[in-house]
Amino acid sequence: MVDLEKLKSIAKETVSRDDVKYLIGWRQGTYGFRVSPHFVEKPEEAEELIFSPLCTNNLASYLVLPEKLPLPRGVEPDSRKVALMVKGCDSRAVVQQIVEQGIKRDEIIVIGCPCEGVIDLEKVEERFPNQLESVTAQWSNGKIIFHLPEGNEEIPKEEVLATKCLTCRYPNPVLSDLMLGDEVETWGDEKYEDVKELEAKDPQERWSFWEEAFSSCVRCYSCRNVCPMCYCEDCILDRLNPTWINRSNNASENTAFHLARAFHLAGRCIECGECERVCPAGIPLTKLNRKLSKVVQENYEYIPGIDPESKPFQSSYRPEDQEDFIL
Ligand code: SF4
Ligand code: SF4
Ligand code: SF4
Repeated sequence: MVDLEKLKSIAKETVSRDDVKYLIGWRQGTYGFRVSPHFVEKPEEAEELIFSPLCTNNLASYLVLPEKLPLPRGVEPDSRKVALMVKGCDSRAVVQQIVEQGIKRDEIIVIGCPCEGVIDLEKVEERFPNQLESVTAQWSNGKIIFHLPEGNEEIPKEEVLATKCLTCRYPNPVLSDLMLGDEVETWGDEKYEDVKELEAKDPQERWSFWEEAFSSCVRCYSCRNVCPMCYCEDCILDRLNPTWINRSNNASENTAFHLARAFHLAGRCIECGECERVCPAGIPLTKLNRKLSKVVQENYEYIPGIDPESKPFQSSYRPEDQEDFIL
């Protein structure tokens, strides 16, 4: 359990340092079960920090979105460190960004938060519809207690947790400079049951499944924009000359978009589930990403976002790697 008073005191101390730009954490939102990312620049702003089952956002995305405004002549870029609160899955994104040299280890301060799982907003909003007042929540012995205006509601965790959390393998941060609270017991497995269920279908059934899913994509690119691993300055999707993937919204181009993105994330996706969470069309992107994760793990024994000293999967090889796919 994260001690909030300890969190605030550490945050105040951290942002008071001359070499720290700001600390990124979470704060209570102003509407229903929503929580917002919180950029703490001054010690007094640390008072608003929280850590609860409502803290769904993976804040590691902000590390690779530096301000790109042109600086006035003679002004040096701000090279101070950024401090970041991370759950287990968020910490894997940080590790993978370090592996890919998207960020440098000495540019960040990682504040680890052992995690007991975050909620799926859709599940709780279905349970408590039209909740306009701001709600707080806390973990408590396998349950989540929601503090609603009309009183407290205790719900078993499994009924409201995000799907990714039900099989989480890394609830404890895999990288941190300091930890808030004791590690939690790990409960996840590597069985990929969700993927196997799809693999068991025949090719036509599988194609129908994905054709239907991709046809509802509106190409808003929220999945790409929220992803902590989608940070190329020059994304293939924005290219006009040459145009690799057309912007028209039809089955062929939508499929090309989803396959390109899935392959670009093979051996890089750290399964934070953010892409699926923000998708307005409810497309099961996690299934697609986890299929690629399974292939990479089974064939190359590689799990991204675990070891900051590892080599990027897509740009390294071992002599014993399988190569039967090469024509
Ligand atoms: S996937 Fe794991 S670390 Fe991430 S929010 Fe869920 S339980 Fe926490
Ligand atoms: S967030 Fe959903 S609808 Fe938007 S581009 Fe991604 S998959 Fe398509
Ligand atoms: S593809 Fe989705 S699950 Fe994977 S790292 Fe990006 S946002 Fe997270």
